[in-house]
Formats: sequence, structure tokens, C-alpha cells
Amino acid sequence: MLIGIFGYSFAWFLVILLLSVGLTAWGTFDIRLGYFIPTFFRKKSHAQRQVALTFDDGPSPYTAEVLQLLKTYQFKATFFCIGKQVSAYPHITRMIIDEGHTIGNHTYSHPKSFGFLKEREIVTELERCNLIIQQIVGKKPQFFRPPFGVTNPLVAKAVQYTKQHVIGWSNRSLDTVIGDDDKIYRRVRQKLKSGDIILFHDTSQRTVDALKQLLPYLQKQGYISVSVDDLLNLQGYE
Ligand SMILES: [Zn+2]
Repeated sequence: MLIGIFGYSFAWFLVILLLSVGLTAWGTFDIRLGYFIPTFFRKKSHAQRQVALTFDDGPSPYTAEVLQLLKTYQFKATFFCIGKQVSAYPHITRMIIDEGHTIGNHTYSHPKSFGFLKEREIVTELERCNLIIQQIVGKKPQFFRPPFGVTNPLVAKAVQYTKQHVIGWSNRSLDTVIGDDDKIYRRVRQKLKSGDIILFHDTSQRTVDALKQLLPYLQKQGYISVSVDDLLNLQGYE
């Protein structure tokens, strides 16, 4: 009898353990759950047809063409910059700001092992990126987008320490995975909803080519793109 009861409770223990391990793994890799940190991934209620185009991993030589396209349609965007890239392309970083867009933090070096870093290492990645952006923009960015969208309890602690907002996305272009610009454009268009935060990377020609289709489509549908700060009514800088 005792063994029987023990057997049942052990089985329940296993079920609960597996559920929590599963949830943790899921929360780590799906930023939209906001499992560890309050994460902004779209604007829920809104009167206007607004989206927020966002670009990760730049600035790069492709950023200037992205800026030119945004200017043509009078759209505003948010660029989640890698600190190292900001150092390599300070003039493009300044262009982003001069043209009225917002810059957010996307770590200093975009480590592949981001999900496995210690809290102190994450803070260092955040602070080094903040400092470089601050040197060019004159202000500390308030928005942070984790590399690969990874969040875990240590990332949560680090972000609490640097007092930044985590910005995710609701519409992912998969522009680093899909090789064809037409498919990238159609994927974003198919999922498009007002209030979306749309994830792109300003690091390839195919993204530029996808934008050449998407931006006129947005305009025709009556959408405007605004910066994340405007979409969410948050401060972009400290
Ligand atoms: Zn990235």
C-alpha cells in the first residue's frame, strides 16, 4: 500500500518535473511567452493602422539603403544594433538617429552562446553596447532585444540591473533563413496585423529587396510604420 502511494506520488512528481522543465525550455526559446521578463511584442489595442518595423544585427553596409527606403515612404523604424557594428559604422549609426529612427541595444558582440552566459557576462554585453551607443547618440538606449530572442532568468536579472525594456516581435520575416526576397515579403504580408512589431535584419540585399515590395504594400493598405517608442508609448532613451 505504502509503495503504491509512493509510486503514485512519484509519478505525479515526475509529471510536474517534466512539465516545468518543458515550460522552462519553451520560455527560454520563445520570446513571445514573456515567461521570465515582461516582454513587449506588439501593441494590443490601437486606433490607427500602425506597425513598427525593426532591424537587428546592424548597422551594416545595407543599412544606408534601408534608410533610403524608409525615407521614401516617411516610415520610422527601430534598429537593434550590435555594439561592435556601431564601432565599425559610426557614420551609419549617426544617420539612423539623424533621420529620426530609434536605436536599441542588441548586445556588444551578439555571442552565439548568449543563452549560456553568466549574469555578469550578460550585464557586460549590455553595458558595453549601451556605452558605445551613448558615445554616438549622447543618450542611453532603453530598449533591448536579446540575440536569438533568448530570455532566461539570468537575462531577466541582467535587464533588471540595466533597467531596460525587452522588445520582442509579433511578425518574424525569417529574412536570415529564407533565401528569396519575394517569399520573405509574402510571409510578412500574410501575417500582418495592426500593432505588429516586425522583425527584419539590415544585413542583406534580400531584406532590402523584400522591403521594396513590403513598404509600398503597407502604404497602399493605409499602414504607417512608427518607432517602437511611439508604438508602445515608451521612452526610447534614458
Ligand atoms: Zn541578432
